[in-house]
Amino acid sequence: MKQDIPLRCVCGKVKAVLKDATPARANRVVCCCNGCRQYAHVLGREEEILNAFGGTEVFQLSPLHLILLEGKEHIACLQQTPKGALRWYASCCTSPLFNTLPTLNMPFIGVLRHCVDEERLDVPFEDIVGPIRATLNTQDDFPTKDAKKHNATMWSLFTMIGRLMPMFFAWKLRGHHKDFPFRDPKTGKPTLPVQTNI
Ligand SMILES: [Zn+2]
Ligand SMILES: [Zn+2]
Repeated sequence: MKQDIPLRCVCGKVKAVLKDATPARANRVVCCCNGCRQYAHVLGREEEILNAFGGTEVFQLSPLHLILLEGKEHIACLQQTPKGALRWYASCCTSPLFNTLPTLNMPFIGVLRHCVDEERLDVPFEDIVGPIRATLNTQDDFPTKDAKKHNATMWSLFTMIGRLMPMFFAWKLRGHHKDFPFRDPKTGKPTLPVQTNI
């Protein structure tokens, strides 16, 4: 069943909704890469965002689902490295919101679980976006013995990619990559100034 996912920044000035999400249209992962870790650190929210082994929970879906309701003027864009992800956050309270890649070739937004307004969910989060499909980019601090439990195996990675690629392809074919509100639909360039630090 389709469900809406309410999003908000910590102070509540930015409000958005992801319309009509379903597990079949979402890919939920945990990313342990250095970029995601640094981002949590730069925002001053590593305690809230990062799990026990430095992972950030993100779910990817088509930008078509995203509708901004309030506080658009507070949204800012950070790119920590020249070719790194564009990380969109709420500047009012340094809350992370969603990530996109710097190219339009991969038509998705990666929404941080942190900005989901859990109290306003009508059904459990897992019922809307499905289970965590894979833990990616694990580092030395990852408990390798728990790899299966956290879907951090090669098999999880391959099955996740195999599931995700047809979704990306369909979104791209339908032109969803042009639907992100803060990018030029032709060039993919952000329409907001891109910061390299906060
Ligand atoms: Zn805020
Ligand atoms: Zn990452």
